[in-house]
Amino acid sequence: MGLLPHKKALCRPLALVLTCALMCALGAGCQQTDEKHETTIFAMDTVMTLTVYGDGERIGGQEALDEMVETIYLLESRQDATREDSEIARLNQSGGETVPLSGETADLLGQALELCALTGGALDITAYPAAETWGFTTGEYRVPSDAELEELAGRIDYTQVQLGSSGELLPTATLASDVELDLGAVAKGYAGEQLGAYLKRVGITSALLDLGQSTIQAVGGKPDGSPWRIGIQDPAGEGYLGVLELEDQAMGTSGGYQRYFEEDGVHYWHIIDPATAAPARSGLASVTVVGPSGLTCDGLSTALFVMGLEEGTAFWRAHRSLDFDVIFISDDGSVSITPGLEGSFSLADGYQDREVTVLS
Ligand code: AMP
Ligand code: MG
Repeated sequence: MGLLPHKKALCRPLALVLTCALMCALGAGCQQTDEKHETTIFAMDTVMTLTVYGDGERIGGQEALDEMVETIYLLESRQDATREDSEIARLNQSGGETVPLSGETADLLGQALELCALTGGALDITAYPAAETWGFTTGEYRVPSDAELEELAGRIDYTQVQLGSSGELLPTATLASDVELDLGAVAKGYAGEQLGAYLKRVGITSALLDLGQSTIQAVGGKPDGSPWRIGIQDPAGEGYLGVLELEDQAMGTSGGYQRYFEEDGVHYWHIIDPATAAPARSGLASVTVVGPSGLTCDGLSTALFVMGLEEGTAFWRAHRSLDFDVIFISDDGSVSITPGLEGSFSLADGYQDREVTVLS
């Protein structure tokens, strides 16, 4: 062992903080405690970038990153409906038989079903056959006939999913045989929420988890103590329309620009209106939800996109106890935000003349 303590440990113990600050002030060369660890992976059908600053009390930042990547792949292998051997695929192929679930999948499924009920079925995890028929899960895009859509809409019904437990209290689920589900609307937010809680448990205080397609989990703020600054995509362009400051919060965005195909000049996107089995056309181009729960932000962004501005605002008013804020961007480019974001949302350069309505 050398005479000097380990570089990364130099500033960490509380007793050394003042000494360290003094050394920095005197220009004596303070070592950084907030080393950046970052990785980019492809998982859950999107690109994810996980960034962690510094180390935890008993785990290094890099090690925590590795653990998180393993967890994401594990959750994906269990929860991705398009993977033949996943728990969800087994449930979809069960023909009405009861299927055992892991604790995490049962937890996610239970919370997703609660959100389906809360949103009056605007979020409906059994929209899967419709998403599949339109080609959003396979890339083989096509516009189904009216008769097909009617048949598909008749099969969207989250109340046909039953959670239960086996004799040994292991979680199970049962699905009506003509119904299929997918957790794509909530899985990334759930993963972010789990990983954010893990980082807090191991004592990492600054991290930004980008779970793809504007699904973000922020742990603390930046290493310098300022909030994370997240760009909000202009749904009608390439750039960022606004900037949102986040600290210890999650964010989820659902937008028609994220995944779509075009036929005869019409855009068809991946967010399905459960009432019609067709892409939701509610007058909104994107919805961003901010709050403490990643799963809630992810699920509600999808649901509020289906509802539209008026119904979505009424939902927000009626569910203030859920603790979430919203940025609605309409087809005509107008922006509406809930008052909780007045101090943390700002328009980006080039969008300064855009009118922002604060909802009440
Ligand atoms: P998100 O990108 O979080 O808005 O979720 C969209 C994904 O969830 C789609 O790719 C579909 O797999 C699925 N989905 C589409 N519409 C709905 C809906 N109304 N409720 C639940 N899941 C949906
Ligand atoms: Mg979502």
